[in-house]
Amino acid sequence: MFCPQCEAEYREGFTECSDCGVALVEALAPPLDRAEVAPGLTAMMETVNVEELGEIVDRLEKAGVPYTIEAGTALALLDGRDDEVPHPWQARLSVATELLERAERIVEQARRSHRPYEPPVG
Ligand SMILES: [Zn+2]
Repeated sequence: MFCPQCEAEYREGFTECSDCGVALVEALAPPLDRAEVAPGLTAMMETVNVEELGEIVDRLEKAGVPYTIEAGTALALLDGRDDEVPHPWQARLSVATELLERAERIVEQARRSHRPYEPPVG
């Protein structure tokens, strides 16, 4: 059970978040920008930062989380859009849907430990 407001997880049997006072729900609704790109595979983030991506991938592999990366300057075409092609290079990371929550924690940790890096513009 989850609090839809603060996203805290509760054991079965709880019905209300002790912090927020709102009714718990069975599952949190996924953010709108996360879509299943194939059965069992969910796109979870995009990045233009190769170093950050490397750090994340390294951690996902150590944690045994299956993932795929689509990268290039024409991701918009994969989405059925052709209005911004070619686009500056970017990568989209998708992970096994059943391990999405774990992957999110890993991405958060990787981003925290990663040195800030400004990609060159243009
Ligand atoms: Zn709450």
